[in-house]
Amino acid sequence: MEGHPYGYNIPISEKTKEVPWEEKVRVYEEVKSDFRFKEFLFGCLNCGVCTASCPSNRFFDYSPREIVQRFLEEDVEVIYDMMHEYIWACSQCFTCWIRCPFVNNPGGLVIIMREVAVRNAFEATKDLLKPYGRVLLKVMTTGNQLSADMLQPDFFPDWGPKMQDNMENVRAKRMAIPFDVGKSVKTAWEVSLETAIEMYTIWRETGIFEMLEKLDPNLYNVIMDIVEENEERWEELLEEEEE
Ligand code: SF4
Ligand code: SF4
Repeated sequence: MEGHPYGYNIPISEKTKEVPWEEKVRVYEEVKSDFRFKEFLFGCLNCGVCTASCPSNRFFDYSPREIVQRFLEEDVEVIYDMMHEYIWACSQCFTCWIRCPFVNNPGGLVIIMREVAVRNAFEATKDLLKPYGRVLLKVMTTGNQLSADMLQPDFFPDWGPKMQDNMENVRAKRMAIPFDVGKSVKTAWEVSLETAIEMYTIWRETGIFEMLEKLDPNLYNVIMDIVEENEERWEELLEEEEE
C-alpha cells in the first residue's frame, strides 16, 4: 500500500525514495538541532485542534498534526519527504500554535524545515520558489515587497463586500498616520542607504546570501550587483565624512 500506515496519505515520492538513508538522517538531525526546535514541540494529545483550525488544511492535503506526530515518532522517511513539497502548503498564520493545548508550534516547525530545505537546495524547493524571484528581489534589496496601497479589494474579491466600505477613503486614513509605515509603493520601496547596509549585514551574517546562491544563482547575481553597488556608495560616503 502506498502512503504512511498512520495517516500521511501522500505517497513517498520516487525521488525521495532513492535518497540514501544516511542522507535523510543527516537532514532530519539538521532540523532537530535547530535551537528553536525544543521550543516548538512539547508533546501531543493527537487532538487534531491544530489541523481543524488550519486554513491550509481546508485547501490542501496538509495537516500540522501529521507533522507533529511524525516528529514524535522520529519518522525520518516521512519527515524527509514532507520537506520537499508538503511543508510549502503552510500559510504561516500560527493559528495552530495559538490553539494547541500543548503550546506546540507546528507552523514554527515548518519554518525550520523550510530553512533546512532551502539550505540544502532541494530541487523541489528550487522549483517551488522559482515564481517568487521578484518577491525575493524586493525583500532582499528593500526589506519589503508589499505596501499598503497595493492591497486593493478589487484584487481580492474573496474579502467580501464589507471590505469595499472599509477601504473608502483609505488613502486619506493611511496618510493621517503620523509616521511612515510604508503607506505607498514609493515610500515602502524607498530605503535609506544606511538601512540597506544594515539589512545586507544581516543577510550576510545569517547565511541568507549563501542560501540564495545555492537556490537561484541567477537571482543571487542580480541581487549581489545591487548590494555591491550600494556597499561601494556607502564606503565612499564614509570616506567623504572622514575627510
Ligand atoms: S501556521 Fe501553518 S500549519 Fe499552523 S495553522 Fe497556519 S497554515 Fe496551518
Ligand atoms: S493541537 Fe497540539 S496536541 Fe492537538 S494534535 Fe495538534 S499539535 Fe497535537
